[in-house]
Order: sequence, then structure tokens, then C-alpha cells
Amino acid sequence: MGMIDFEDELKKISAAGLLRRLRSISSGSGPKIVIDGKTLLMLASNDYLGLCADTRVKQATARAVQKWGGGTGAARLISGNLDLFAELEKRLADFKQTEDALVFSTGYMANAGLLSALAGKGDIIFSDALNHASIIDGCRLSRAETGIYPHKDLNRLETLLTQSRACTNRYIVTDAVFSMDGDIAPLPALLSLAEKYDAVIILDDAHGTGAIGKTGKGTLEHFGMKSSPRIIIMGTLGKALGSFGAFAAGTASLKPFLVNRARSFIFTTALPPAVPAAALAALDRIEQDPGLVRKLKENAALMREGLCRLGFDIMETETQIIPVMIGRPEHALHMAKELFARGLFIQAIRPPTVPENASRLRITVMAAHEKKDLAEALDILGSVGKKLGII
Ligand SMILES: *Cc1c(COP(=O)(O)O)cnc(C)c1O
Repeated sequence: MGMIDFEDELKKISAAGLLRRLRSISSGSGPKIVIDGKTLLMLASNDYLGLCADTRVKQATARAVQKWGGGTGAARLISGNLDLFAELEKRLADFKQTEDALVFSTGYMANAGLLSALAGKGDIIFSDALNHASIIDGCRLSRAETGIYPHKDLNRLETLLTQSRACTNRYIVTDAVFSMDGDIAPLPALLSLAEKYDAVIILDDAHGTGAIGKTGKGTLEHFGMKSSPRIIIMGTLGKALGSFGAFAAGTASLKPFLVNRARSFIFTTALPPAVPAAALAALDRIEQDPGLVRKLKENAALMREGLCRLGFDIMETETQIIPVMIGRPEHALHMAKELFARGLFIQAIRPPTVPENASRLRITVMAAHEKKDLAEALDILGSVGKKLGII
């Protein structure tokens, strides 16, 4: 029929153990969810602080809908730029201790817009091999040369930097907390390299924002670093902030530059009012209640230590994202199915999200998890892991 044969393609994907299916969840986001009438412990959400369903976040969201309605009616440069956006951008800049910030509709769009606005022909982007797909796509969209360095390999990165003197602009782009591995990019060393070779860092703090650092401000706070004109921070609102959307934060002139040049900002409808309102309320909650971030860290440590004790390979994670390495995709899928039957909702992560033979379970903990539920989850993980010969 002059186009790809869907059935045929799906058979190939399935034969490789890589078929993905959507699961319908009939409850809202929270530490326990309901699927097909069955209650499960949620260990696969990025709603790390439990703010999606936080009472005050819900109230603020409902008030915003009452006041401003369901949508915004146009792109921000046309007529959709509600006051709320400036308010949120100021709060995000304060939170990240940068001069200003610009909200994007999604993290995917923020990375695509940032990279393609900042880099072009004649420039080079150095990108960690384990960066998020939205970074990979942003690099492609930019038309700049891309130099991929092995995960966190600073020697290789430096070699590539020394070879890039002919390029006009040099960028280093990295996940701050790696989304499938849970380890943290070596930001202080990356900044030294950026200074030495006159490069700029684009830091994707999707999983750090609201989750790491003493007060949840993210990866710079984690390392005790101040913001720098050499670091452009991207963060998302849909993970620990429990809302939706994303932002880029940096110097005062970054914002108007992106407003003029980032196509994924310009050519899309402004977010509905409920979204910035929820994010603002979430920032209030994080700032008012330091116990949220503390509880997330305690739960993450409990889970990491428990899994290690059981003998699972959890790689180099230091955060609330805890991979359990399995290897073959069908084995990871099998284990996820067994865990599901025992009441745990955990996703198997397979290629192309992770490299070949690096299929795994990706466990994420939330501040809202009860310690006894995590202890029970560890018991189940241990018994299923033994049964399947993983430990
Ligand atoms: C989730 C994620 C994104 C995309 O953010 P969305 O708002 O979901 O589009 C970008 N980068 C990383 C590292 C992520 O984990």
C-alpha cells in the first residue's frame, strides 16, 4: 500500500521482546494505585514528592480553573501569556538561583527548543551516551555536529573538546540525574572542563528538581555550587513538582533570546492555567515543608540498601531512581509481570530506552511511601528475584 506494514512491524517488535503496551490506571497518582480493580504499590512514578494529589496543590489547581478556565486560547506570543507564567518563571528562577527562567510546554520541547536555538551549523554539542531521548532529538534538530562521549567519561570528553577548536560554539549537554540509571553527572568536573575549553553546559535537571540537594533545589544544590553563566539549567514540572511542563533557567538575556528563537516555545499554545497554578502551589509546598524532600531521601536510601542486601545489582544509583539490572528484555518483562501479580507496579525498561542487554526494572520511590510498604515490597522483590534466578 506504499507504506510501512503495521502488523508486520508489530510482529517484529514483539519477537524481539520489545513490544510496549499502554496500561490504564483508574486511580490518580499516588503511592497506591488501582488497575483493573486491583490495588498495587506504585514504584514507577516520577511524582517523587506525592504532589500530584497534594490537597493544597489540588485546591490551587481548581481555583485556577475557576478563575481562568480550561485553556489559554493561543500561543504566549499571540494572546495566551497569562500573568501566571511570569509569576511562575520568577519563582523558578528564585528556586534555581538564576536570573530568569522561561516555561516550556514539556521537557521534551524544552530540550528540543533549547538545543536548536543555541546550536547550529558550525557548532558542536558534546552529549553523554546515556542522555534522555529528548536531548538526542534536540541535537539532531539543531544541525550542529554531535560528539557522543561514553557515560560520564571525562577523559574522552576532554579529548573531544581539544579536537573542537575550529567549532564556533561548544556545548556539553547532560542529564543531571540520569533517568534510567539514577546516578548523577559529575557537574563540578564538567564545569572545569567547560571553563578550560570555553564551552557552555546544558544541564537537564528533570529528575533533580524538587528531589536532590538539601532542600530539593536540584543538582547545583547537591554539589553546593552557585549558578554560573556557563550552565543553562533545564528542569521539568511534571516530575517532583507534580504538575506538567518544563523550564529553562539562566541569565536575564537567555529568556528573551529563547522567546525569539526557540521554535518549540513560539509555535505552540500556552499551557492551560491549571498547570502553572499547580506548579506554583508545589513550589510553596516544597519550600514550606522540608520534610517532603527529607522523606524522599530516607525512602530512597531504605530501598537502595534493601536491594543491595538482597544481592540485586543496582548499578551506581545515588538517588530515588533505582535500577535493578536484569539484562535480557524478556527476563525483565517476566520479572515485572511476576511482581505485578504480587501487587507491585514496576516497569521493565528495555531498548531503545536503555542499551542492548541492559534491560532492567526501574524502581522509583516517593516521599508518600510508608516504610512498611517498602519493607513489604523488598520481601516480594527478594522472593521473586530468587524464584527467577536473578539473585
Ligand atoms: C522526563 C524527562 C524529560 C522530558 O520531560 P517531559 O516534561 O516529560 O516532556 C526530559 N529529560 C529528562 C532527563 C527526563 O527524564
